[in-house]
Amino acid sequence: MSKEDLECSFCGRKKPETNLLIAGLDAHICDRCIEQAHGIVIEESKQMDSGDLSAELMLRKPQQIKSFLDEYIIGQEHTKRVMSVAVYNHYKRLLQATGDDDVEIQKSNIIMVGQTGTGKTLMAKTIARMLNVPLAIVDATVLTEAGYVGEDVESILTRLLQAADYNLEKAQRGIVFIDEIDKIARKSDNPSITRDVSGEGVQQALLKLLEGTVVNVPPKGGRKHPDQKFIEVNTENILFIAGGAFDGLERIISRRLNMSAIGYKASHDEDILDKDNLLQYVIPKDLKDYGLIPEIIGRLPVLTYMNPLDSNTLRAILTEPKNAIVKQYKKLFQMDDINLTFSEGALGFIVDKAIEYKLGARGLRSLCEEILTDAMFTLPGTGETKLNVTKGYAEGKLTKTTLKKLKAVS
Ligand code: ADP
Repeated sequence: MSKEDLECSFCGRKKPETNLLIAGLDAHICDRCIEQAHGIVIEESKQMDSGDLSAELMLRKPQQIKSFLDEYIIGQEHTKRVMSVAVYNHYKRLLQATGDDDVEIQKSNIIMVGQTGTGKTLMAKTIARMLNVPLAIVDATVLTEAGYVGEDVESILTRLLQAADYNLEKAQRGIVFIDEIDKIARKSDNPSITRDVSGEGVQQALLKLLEGTVVNVPPKGGRKHPDQKFIEVNTENILFIAGGAFDGLERIISRRLNMSAIGYKASHDEDILDKDNLLQYVIPKDLKDYGLIPEIIGRLPVLTYMNPLDSNTLRAILTEPKNAIVKQYKKLFQMDDINLTFSEGALGFIVDKAIEYKLGARGLRSLCEEILTDAMFTLPGTGETKLNVTKGYAEGKLTKTTLKKLKAVS
């Protein structure tokens, strides 16, 4: 058979009609069939991804979700339970067979209130890691209403698409964490005073996203690329988790609690309130009084709070989570065959300084970095096989100036 007579075993095109004809053992395939087959492989693997997700989700019950969270996050028991149920219900909702009855399960978007550095972002990250779904972390403060300087709310979905490597299917089942949601609270109680570009308008714009809608998303984001083709993203199955510090929310809660205490005194025994952690009594109305519009609160139906971190928690954060800071440094040193240990006194000292200088959990890492930098610079290559960090050693590396510097950047 002459070269010209060779043909693609799949579509029958003769060699001259193809750009490329690849020979196998007993067959040939042309470039067009390869492209088509490639398309099929991609489609199939997408379906397998979503199939895997369903299987995976059916395996994890709320208690197992919580156990997974326990490996990475210290304390915050209440929020872990609430999150586990919300996430379980969210993905049950995804798996529900549509059309067999009239019961439509509503979304279980979540809102977390709690001081900065208490693990809100970590919570969202850990859930996404467990489910192996893409996660976009966005800061509500950069969002503005369309037409104003800043980012449109659609940019949230651009981020999610990027996190999903532009796999639309995956993005549509992903998680969006909106940080600093409290910063878009209405500034004044009187909604008609002025147009509030960065506050209420953004809340309005977020509404449809939270609820579930199809949004035209510029895949590259922003207004810098006016020619790009939009991608239609359906937010129906995207789980939104919002978080915020809500500075001053305690005052609103305390006011409400006192008022009701007076009102009901005759019929109720007074509960003993934990005045040091009033956030645990938060109810949706408090968020409304803080300046979130009722519609937003309604679309974030799962409300939960984060406890402030005390010294025991900080101590545990240093050593216990699966990728605890101390474990990470141990590993770094191990790679140079150096056995790194911390004395109890040193760990206590690090926690004390984090509290004294109000550095929070985030500060623990910076403190360790300051303490260990000298050793990480000098020890490799010296043949040294161990470093025991004692309280004295740690004290020696952390001068007042260093601590003040850490506080300034925290
Ligand atoms: P937030 O979003 O509430 O401001 P983050 O989740 O960003 O706080 O927390 C900052 C860092 O502090 C995390 O990366 C983590 O290392 C640590 N951290 C905070 N809270 C916890 C916790 N409860 N358990 C373990 N680590 C925590």
